[in-house]
Amino acid sequence: MDLVSNHPDARWAKPRSAYIHIPFCRHRCGYCNFSVVADRDDLIDRYVKAITEELDSLKRPLLDTLFLGGGTPTHLSNSHLNKLLESLNQLFDLNELTEFSVEANPEDIDQEKLDCLQSWGVNRISFGIQSFRAEKLNTLQRNHTGKEAVAAIELAAKIFNNLSIDLIFGAPGETTSQWEADLETALALPIQHLSTYALTYEKGTQFWNQRRHGAIKPVDEQTEVEMYQAALHQCGEKGFRHYEISSFEKDNHRCLHNMAYWKGEGWYAAGPGAARFVDGFREVNHRSTFTYLRRMEKGIPPTEESESIDPIQYASERIAFGIRLIEVICLPSLNRQLGMETYHLFSKAILRSIQDGLIEDSAGHLKLTRKGILFADTVAQRFLDSSAVI
Ligand code: SF4
Repeated sequence: MDLVSNHPDARWAKPRSAYIHIPFCRHRCGYCNFSVVADRDDLIDRYVKAITEELDSLKRPLLDTLFLGGGTPTHLSNSHLNKLLESLNQLFDLNELTEFSVEANPEDIDQEKLDCLQSWGVNRISFGIQSFRAEKLNTLQRNHTGKEAVAAIELAAKIFNNLSIDLIFGAPGETTSQWEADLETALALPIQHLSTYALTYEKGTQFWNQRRHGAIKPVDEQTEVEMYQAALHQCGEKGFRHYEISSFEKDNHRCLHNMAYWKGEGWYAAGPGAARFVDGFREVNHRSTFTYLRRMEKGIPPTEESESIDPIQYASERIAFGIRLIEVICLPSLNRQLGMETYHLFSKAILRSIQDGLIEDSAGHLKLTRKGILFADTVAQRFLDSSAVI
């Protein structure tokens, strides 16, 4: 049987999404592994110029979603933000965007900053809150209090009707009932979207070192599972739909930008450490802001890695990311789109996951089971691993 019949290039439609990385923060939180520079606001002018130049090479693509992430975009002063957004407005048609998201930290939020964002067409704010409880915020080395977080969200809700909160669970010493209280506070706020992430200990972070030396102790696996289940339960009770492993929404407020990632639709990305997927190539920029600036100022492209994605690898990624979306993945339609027999190509991963009770299959329509939702990473990894041996 011919399992792959199409040439892959037919698939690479022009991306309609772009991510722009703003690496500046006040300080580096102990768990953070993002590409960040702390307390180096002196670089912001150079950075705005550099990122404008990188984006200029895209030649004004038509976009549906734009996402300013970081780092902390709202750490920029209003005058820097205005300068950046004015440049973006010349590079893209900001009025045409369906979703324009900006990540924010509560300590940066006041009326003036919100007005500034709104005046350039921002219509979604994603708050990095992580917790409302003083002890946990202190452990995570966050700069805001729970009260400030609530005030910032309530202020933003007077202008924006698409607000998201990120919360972390499983901080050292945290109990399930403390986590439930965080969820309760979050879900009582005027938000439309919530993302919950288990605390991870990434190599090179302060937390990773402290854990290695026994200075901090992660919560045990069973507690982490209970916390995740508490999120499923409480979000469900408050009318938030679980639409991706870590994401909940109400009133049809899925993050459209992230949906483009998860559906393999391609996206542009600029800034240090930014990863893009354009014309079948996955590329990552150099992680260091200093190297990024030096390269851009010398006219050297900031790309550090570039990999061509073959059709089978692409199919495995579509299923691996697709399965994390709680809705069903329809393999027959994926087959038509990709010109390949995905069920046959990935039969080993599919059958093993069915046997383990992690996915259900109804005539090629795959879906995580309740148990599979807890092991979504394992299922996704099986598909990614299979592409390497086909
Ligand atoms: S505010 Fe966010 S991006 Fe900045 S250091 Fe903390 S976790 Fe990292």
